[in-house]
Amino acid sequence: MPRRYRPAPLIRLSIALHGAAAGGLLLQPDAWPWAAGALAANHALLTAAGLLPRCCLLGPNWTRLPPAAAARGEIALTIDDGPDPHVTPRVLDLLDRHGARASFFVIGSRVAQHPALAREIVARGHALENHSAHHLKSFSLHGPRGVEREIRAAQQTIAACCGDVPRFFRAPAGLRNPFLEPVLTRLDLQLAAWTRRAYDTRNGDAGNVGDRLLDGLAGGDILLLHDGNAARSRHGTPVILDVLPRVLAACKLAGLRAVTLRAAVR
Ligand SMILES: [Zn+2]
Repeated sequence: MPRRYRPAPLIRLSIALHGAAAGGLLLQPDAWPWAAGALAANHALLTAAGLLPRCCLLGPNWTRLPPAAAARGEIALTIDDGPDPHVTPRVLDLLDRHGARASFFVIGSRVAQHPALAREIVARGHALENHSAHHLKSFSLHGPRGVEREIRAAQQTIAACCGDVPRFFRAPAGLRNPFLEPVLTRLDLQLAAWTRRAYDTRNGDAGNVGDRLLDGLAGGDILLLHDGNAARSRHGTPVILDVLPRVLAACKLAGLRAVTLRAAVR
């Protein structure tokens, strides 16, 4: 059964505030500065919530795995912005070597460019999830139609290429607006953020990236890395390739198992 859209408390409050401001202006037009001030403060709060990728004020947002998965000692590796023909195959080899599974938040247009690679991700036991069609910098500035177009197009590209429909969505750079959750509900997608990230599209220091990801590592963590747009280390290596072996070894040492987000829901 698809989810039903239930506005988050902040969204319900915002709708009520807009209604109250409109009603108040009809009754007392002189009070417009108060109404304008209240609405400006409300929009500032909605914008701030959308700028914080791990914020749950706009709707449900996974920042950790469900408690049952955490109790089973599961963690999730999420790998964004691919597939990349130079990096993703080597990431797949590293994951295989450690018996780990990952969720790849792929960009629809890149799947269309590299369909065989996308199919190989699935064939090797991982999950493809939706990271929009074009990873637009302006994604969070779009209205409901633009947001839906970007997500629906990626959903269709991935399904047509791999026969598998994504169940999770991650916004480009994690930036969102209040129009996102109704679209995700319609497409039966769950928003997923992360527990920790290490800015590995900008940070080429593998030691530092590893430290940030592994600091306090525990069951239920969702870690974010990038196979697409990966920063390069001093030697020119995409930083994920230097960091992943250390992350996977640390998981093993801690008795944690890397699973896909989908597997964590069972
Ligand atoms: Zn991204």
